[in-house]
Amino acid sequence: MKCHTPDCTGEHEAASISHSVIYRERTLVIHNVPAFLCPECGDATLIEETTIVLEDLLKRKARSKATAFHYEG
Ligand SMILES: [Zn+2]
Repeated sequence: MKCHTPDCTGEHEAASISHSVIYRERTLVIHNVPAFLCPECGDATLIEETTIVLEDLLKRKARSKATAFHYEG
């Protein structure tokens, strides 16, 4: 997958990332998220299915006081 960053010639590679997201005015971090990462500029892309799983995870975990979670696909 070609990188979206202008002037970057990198190719995205499958990787696990720590994804931070602001949810209900809190910053949450989800570890082990499958993504495509550009080794050149560090740009990370999530596929749509992953973002759907993440949204569901956030809804379920939002009541918890924890701010870091593990991705459960
Ligand atoms: Zn790039």
